[in-house]
Amino acid sequence: MTEIAITQGDSTQELAYRSGYAGASEEPGGVSSAAGPDLAHIGRSVAELRKSFDAGATRSLEWREHELDQLARMLRENRKEIAQAVHEDVGKPLAEAAMSDVAGARGAATELRKKLRKWTAPKRVKTPIFARPGKSMILTEPLGVVLVIAPWNFPVDLALNPVAGAIAAGNAVVLKPSEVSARTSELLARLIPKYMDADCVRVIEGGVAETTELLAQRFDHIFYTGNGTIGRVVMQAAAKHLTPVTLELGGKSPCIIDASCNLEVSARRILWGKFFNCGQVCIAPDYVLAQADIYEALLEQLKATIVEFFGDDPQQSVDYGRIINARHHQRLMRLLASGGTVFWGGQADEADRYIAPTLLTDVPGDAAIMQEEIFGPLLPVVKVADVDEAIAYVNARPKPLALYYFGSDRENRDAIMARTSSGAVAVNQTVMHFASSELPFGGVGESGMGAYHGRHSIDTFSHKKPVLMRPTFFDPKFIYPPTTPRKAKLMSRVG
Ligand code: NAD
Repeated sequence: MTEIAITQGDSTQELAYRSGYAGASEEPGGVSSAAGPDLAHIGRSVAELRKSFDAGATRSLEWREHELDQLARMLRENRKEIAQAVHEDVGKPLAEAAMSDVAGARGAATELRKKLRKWTAPKRVKTPIFARPGKSMILTEPLGVVLVIAPWNFPVDLALNPVAGAIAAGNAVVLKPSEVSARTSELLARLIPKYMDADCVRVIEGGVAETTELLAQRFDHIFYTGNGTIGRVVMQAAAKHLTPVTLELGGKSPCIIDASCNLEVSARRILWGKFFNCGQVCIAPDYVLAQADIYEALLEQLKATIVEFFGDDPQQSVDYGRIINARHHQRLMRLLASGGTVFWGGQADEADRYIAPTLLTDVPGDAAIMQEEIFGPLLPVVKVADVDEAIAYVNARPKPLALYYFGSDRENRDAIMARTSSGAVAVNQTVMHFASSELPFGGVGESGMGAYHGRHSIDTFSHKKPVLMRPTFFDPKFIYPPTTPRKAKLMSRVG
């Protein structure tokens, strides 16, 4: 059964407007009519899912395999329609939508399906001498009913990748897609009940009001992807029920460019990561810290690479995306005006939600653009004297979701890795680590808590239950009271 809470009267634009960063938390009531939305279905849905979980419906490996197959099948059979919805919602090129969103989620479901039995198998571990004879093992146990709250920038992958993990771990799931990407939300709400077990997997659409109501329910895990302001709201709501959370947040991911770097390759890889989805990627390079020796050369190379990628007029390029909505466009224009000199780009067209790929120089560290996550196609390039200054610059800000080092100087590279903290590090690359299911994906400090992808998704959505099993044929009495000097001596030997 699907719950569709977005009322007919709400235009996509209105819905989208409501969830710019500030608006998301400020707007009370969400997608409601003047009388307020009817939210009673939300508690009912969660109660029904709990009933299914308690009855054991999601526990068997066969059920999990079937659901993961169905998820992959849904994404395969409807890939064009889904990519089209993402393209229309987010404004990213169709091919990019198909690759990053649809193929990404399908890959996650397929891999989990394939490795499910291996990744969930009980693990035998050693038993200490005092507990022998005995067997020790760790069981991977489902948590129960999981809530997944997804954002708009990759509205399929960031919704279904965690859903696949939750199913693989044997949980019942509620997915709350982002109301900002309204077409994709509606499509997922329509497709999921056709393919998945509706007693155990549900979509609840809506905005602030629906999510607030959802958060009032008791879940066994909440997996939230989005901005840190709402992350705090989620964590507070979860605390009421002592529900564990995974918070996949954002931040300012720096690129540190060493004088030893390959300029041409570095520029390509920095800008590929920066302008993918028009910069609306949680791990997009937020700003560049370039060593003084190569600063000018890097700027020229970055400029040349932008022209190489998107031509003289990126607004005409089919490879260049758009800003999600007017509110975010205005937010980015405010950041652009907050400080610095435009070295390249800077053009904007709000009606088309276009902002050119833009390089900025001379940006003061206290300008809003250096304080807030940019999440758009503006790239400040800051000159630093050396690695120590770069490290100090990064450490003066909250811990980022990703940190990128470009160069071949091992000493500098290792110093950066040892003296900074970030969700992840990539060397001579940006963004790509997200696609490796071997690597746990998640933040640290203000960029989030917890991680997922591949087997790490199973860990996130499971309880690792330790089990000790002992036979009764051997039961030496020396561990039991009353203590005698002889027993104490014996115990000290086995301890
Ligand atoms: P968004 O506006 O779609 O919000 C995310 C979710 O929060 C939505 O489902 C929305 O309905 C819900 N929400 C909004 N207001 C709420 C409220 N008051 N109470 C409860 N729920 C509410 O997306 P966003 O926050 O604009 O996403 C962009 C941010 O997310 C950036 O900071 C980005 O770095 C981060 N992000 C992180 C990752 C990651 O994997 N770490 C991925 C993508 C985006």
